[in-house]
Amino acid sequence: MTSKLSLLAKIKKFGFNRIAIPKSVKIFGMEDALSSQEGYLTYSKKSPVRFDIPIEIGRREGVDAPIIPKLLPRMMSCMKNMKQAIIDLDDNIKDSKRQIEKDELVELETYIRSLDISGIGYTTVPQDFIFANKAVAYENAIVLTMNMDNKKVSIAPSKQTAETIWHTYDNLGIAANKIARYLRKKGFNAHASHPLGGIVLYPRLAEKAGLGGFGKSGILITPINGGTLRLAAVYTNIENLPINEGNEHGWIMEYCKTCLRCVKECPPGAIYEKPIEHETGRVTHIDNEKCFPYFGNNYGCTVCIKVCPFNYTDYHAIKEGFMKRSK
Ligand code: SF4
Ligand code: SF4
Repeated sequence: MTSKLSLLAKIKKFGFNRIAIPKSVKIFGMEDALSSQEGYLTYSKKSPVRFDIPIEIGRREGVDAPIIPKLLPRMMSCMKNMKQAIIDLDDNIKDSKRQIEKDELVELETYIRSLDISGIGYTTVPQDFIFANKAVAYENAIVLTMNMDNKKVSIAPSKQTAETIWHTYDNLGIAANKIARYLRKKGFNAHASHPLGGIVLYPRLAEKAGLGGFGKSGILITPINGGTLRLAAVYTNIENLPINEGNEHGWIMEYCKTCLRCVKECPPGAIYEKPIEHETGRVTHIDNEKCFPYFGNNYGCTVCIKVCPFNYTDYHAIKEGFMKRSK
């Protein structure tokens, strides 16, 4: 019996929740344990609590999360690679290099792009961006984007959309682990962070890294992918990365006020027209209590990404038109 069949057989016998949820809880516990490790950068009092989808699916009545059997190996691979990212931290060494040469950085970026990564940004991790109870091994971050299949997003919500979501999560998680291993081979230290869940608020980290700006639905919008992407990061001890300064995508939120398509077309009406600003400075765009049941029962929904104009019109064309109208 192949491992795929045995996985399916187990899930048939015990149910998806009884296999996947305990695995997730174990991995989340391993992540939490990092926050008591010496030298790690930990969460702050202002840190948000992560919304853990597998646990929410398990604990909520009325969220059935229809399973697509052919995606189960991808889901399990995601869990395996989340766990592997933590296990691989043992391979970091005490006296590693901390400065990268220009040609090494070019080689690193060439390698990263060979893994189907569409965007690379560099930034430092503020403690407030780290989820409660989590920690990162290094303050410097290489932030990564990988695009989803636009055609499959354009028919959201559907099984095909779920396929591109899970394929992208899995491929990006594998890529993040490969990049961390590549860095270790070159003499640096690294901590890969899987796109599923994430230890840090990825959209905010990616915005800080200069990769894009926030849209009304809380997604990151980039010139390369619009909002049709997933995010991950590799934290590293390299001290001289070309860290981004400034944000040239701040206009997006102003444009959103004139668009509001995602607000109007979100099936359960979960997107706030006026985002909630917390005392901590954090901004909430989505009412999870409304989004999650629909998201869970409809293959990860994704309607807000599907309808976003940045998904089918060039970023620069939208910007030019908006700037002209704003004069
Ligand atoms: S995923 Fe679906 S339900 Fe959730 S905010 Fe987007 S459109 Fe709304
Ligand atoms: S659909 Fe419109 S309002 Fe929503 S994120 Fe995209 S541009 Fe902004």
